[in-house]
Amino acid sequence: MNISIVSGKGGAGKTTFTILFAKYLVSKGKKVLINDLDVEEPNVNLFLNKKLDYDEVYIYIPEHIKENCISCKECAEKCLFNALVVAKDFWLVLPELCHSCKLCEYVCKYSAIKGSKRVIGKIGQSFDKMLHLLEGRLNIGESLTTALIKQVIGKSLKIKDNYDVIIMDSPPGTSCPVIQASKDADKIIVVAEDTPFGFSDFVVLSDMLKEIGKDYYLVINKYIDGEGYSEFASKNNVKVLGKIPYDINLAKNYSFGDVEDIDTIDFDNIYNTLLEG
Ligand code: SF4
Ligand code: SF4
Repeated sequence: MNISIVSGKGGAGKTTFTILFAKYLVSKGKKVLINDLDVEEPNVNLFLNKKLDYDEVYIYIPEHIKENCISCKECAEKCLFNALVVAKDFWLVLPELCHSCKLCEYVCKYSAIKGSKRVIGKIGQSFDKMLHLLEGRLNIGESLTTALIKQVIGKSLKIKDNYDVIIMDSPPGTSCPVIQASKDADKIIVVAEDTPFGFSDFVVLSDMLKEIGKDYYLVINKYIDGEGYSEFASKNNVKVLGKIPYDINLAKNYSFGDVEDIDTIDFDNIYNTLLEG
């Protein structure tokens, strides 16, 4: 089973839930693979403290062969991302706009473009049998978040048969990286914070998931009275899997890199609900 943990905003409790759920599953004898897809600020390993081996992640980028180029501009005109600037005797690719589609190389009739590669980040992995971590880490200043997420997911698909459950700790928000981290998941759990701000972001996330045709389960974090959530959940037929109470000590421990067990979450029930649903 492949479960994506998402939230409409940062700090809602995705990582806390991911770690506690993974530890629960391991305690039940399940082999778990965690994908840390929050590649701009991966923090799962701050809590697991695993030794990670990193490999650099490359993507395609076109390289110019000046002596073959006749400055016809066809490559720039066809590029859907405006990533090429061509003038007489001048050819420039803007790496942060290039989406590695290779169309420019394909349309150039003069063999004046060849493929090259550039590093956008790295993927770290631990090699524990029961709780394996894959972590994407984007280079500072790099904008191709989705490209790196795709590569982490691709790597996890190659080893998925070794694991009973894959948990994907998604980036926060509702943009392309979140869609990438959710679109192929078997189950989605939204972790939402019990504040007006959290509720507002949750509604936007819910709309996005509806847009991509995904049902989801809900976990309410920093629970006070669930104002707004209960009505929304019953109106939209959303199952609430758990409520994590507002507790200043949880936040304090988290800031010291410690995620403690929360006895108000019934992980047996959560796992069984996911299996049945
Ligand atoms: S399509 Fe080829 S020949 Fe034309 S400008 Fe681009 S690189 Fe040069
Ligand atoms: S690879 Fe695609 S996105 Fe990148 S410069 Fe070429 S056409 Fe544009």
